[in-house]
Amino acid sequence: MIQHKIHILPDHIANKIAAGEVIQRPESVVKELLENSLDAGSKDTAVVIKDGGKKLIQVVDDGTGMDEQDAVASFLRHATSKIASYEDLEEITTYGFRGEALASIAAVAQVTMKTRCIDDEAAVVVHIDGGGTPRVTREGREPGTSVFVQNLFYNVAARRKFLKSTNTEFRHVYDAVQRVALSHPEIAMRFVSDDETILDLKAETLQGRVLDIFGERQLDGMIWFEEKSEVISLHGYIGKPTFGQKSRANQYLFLNRRYIVNRNINHAVFSAYENLLVKGSFPFFLLFLDIDPRRVDVNVHPSKMEAKFDDEQNIYRFVSTVAKKALAVREFVPALSFGGEGTSSSGIGLGFTDRQHSWPSAADIRSITGFEGSATIDRATGEIILSKSVPDGTQLARQLLLAQEDTAASAERAHVVWQLHNKYILTPIENGLMIIDQHVAHERVLYERVLERFDNTPRSPQQVLFPFTLELTAGDHALVIELLPYFEKLGFAIKPFGKNTVMIEGVPPDLRQGSNEKIIEEILSLYKEYHQESPMEVRDNLAKSFSCKAAIKAGDKLSEQQMKSLIDQLFSTKMPFVCPHGRPIVLKISTEEFDRRFGRT
Ligand code: ADP
Ligand code: MG
Repeated sequence: MIQHKIHILPDHIANKIAAGEVIQRPESVVKELLENSLDAGSKDTAVVIKDGGKKLIQVVDDGTGMDEQDAVASFLRHATSKIASYEDLEEITTYGFRGEALASIAAVAQVTMKTRCIDDEAAVVVHIDGGGTPRVTREGREPGTSVFVQNLFYNVAARRKFLKSTNTEFRHVYDAVQRVALSHPEIAMRFVSDDETILDLKAETLQGRVLDIFGERQLDGMIWFEEKSEVISLHGYIGKPTFGQKSRANQYLFLNRRYIVNRNINHAVFSAYENLLVKGSFPFFLLFLDIDPRRVDVNVHPSKMEAKFDDEQNIYRFVSTVAKKALAVREFVPALSFGGEGTSSSGIGLGFTDRQHSWPSAADIRSITGFEGSATIDRATGEIILSKSVPDGTQLARQLLLAQEDTAASAERAHVVWQLHNKYILTPIENGLMIIDQHVAHERVLYERVLERFDNTPRSPQQVLFPFTLELTAGDHALVIELLPYFEKLGFAIKPFGKNTVMIEGVPPDLRQGSNEKIIEEILSLYKEYHQESPMEVRDNLAKSFSCKAAIKAGDKLSEQQMKSLIDQLFSTKMPFVCPHGRPIVLKISTEEFDRRFGRT
């Protein structure tokens, strides 16, 4: 007789194995149970845990509830009311659909569910120990469902061992509760841990909920935004650069209100900060991305924390554009203060003061740029009211900067500029003195110009009078050849010229005087340095290396005309206040500060 080796595992073992995918720790139980409550249309939920959820997890809701038959069936594997066919799977609008959660939880814990649907007189109580046979009784209860999960992994020693301290498990559970609270502000939520009420949130708007959870001080560090295209809608908050975080913990991404993790989209937000953040700090964000469910697949991971998008690249671009725009409407001028109380910046990030409450005056701006836009800033809210249509990001940033009550008469251009130690440009503004670092100012101008050039047709280079050859190391030579198309876009005319040698026939017109000869090598060396520090896109790296090396330097004497033109150009950039490396470009000292220093007040 043949001895067969293969047999089908009994359900209770299969369920235990399957549970491992869905249920890792108390947090996963809380997430699954809360999602069931949301799917059941609950408006008021409570989560109670003991010992970080290791001893008890209880989720109570006022949703639809279940009758006896459904209540018992709900614990079977692949038992779901949410999809019936494969087609339904293409268009998921509920959190659950795999029908695994309750079966998995019941396989590895002692579970009691009390549930009553509105039509029933009493609640059904289903009790299951470690995936055994359900015991059913009846009891009084309000319509809705409560699920008690006790002694998680009591029958799976290996998994129980991996649970962390009460405190750690508590933090994970808290995170799960907080995510649901943030994505469902319209639902009242209570969270109790070891008899202590941690959260008691009433139904709110998103703004109200964010305030309840993060508090006023943190809310101050955030910028609200919302934007829609035909297929994507995005809203939420992103942190001001001054609200840099020590870790990625405060980065929330919700896809159709489901919390997901997606490195690509995170990066899209990160990229919008373009060096506004100091090294090692992370942006805060709370993004709500809504996309037609047919265009995404959330069934790629058992816990559904990941998603596949039909068109991830477009989404990347959309997110990064929206984030950039949100950041551009705020101005981050470092206002100089000499210590003393109340005036210093927050001390986080770059130490910039976000000047929402003291925008530059119309005259300030006009005196520098001669711009006569008509736009106003609501001083109470910091909202910008533009009287003209706003075409694109650059224009927007510019107009916002220039936005002010348009009362003063004709604009007066910056009639006085001084250069200090061939390094700084000083110019009076209505309410004080503005100081500009000439090198970083020019760097910012070139940087944006170059990025634009990469996107457009190359400029014709300015032929050099005497083309010259350049002998490079083999490595640098290979690098130049590799980057040749980019150099062309920058406005260089470079030709291979024998072994490790290139011929320079043309250079960009905006090169700093007298830097022709060495510029290529300087750019290459900086390029390599940046590349080592952190991998970034070729174009971004080259734009930075080029603008740093081609910009006028500290020590360059500038004519009055050059200074005025630099100021003009600077204030036409998207980010006139921060250089591509995150250093400040402009400082302002107010007349009050002078008065204070001279003892006039
Ligand atoms: P899924 O959510 O993927 O359908 P679950 O195992 O989480 O699978 O739940 C199984 C079924 O039990 C759900 O489809 C739903 O019909 C029912 N159910 C679970 N929890 C609740 C609840 N809190 N209120 C009402 N029905 C629920
Ligand atoms: Mg579920």
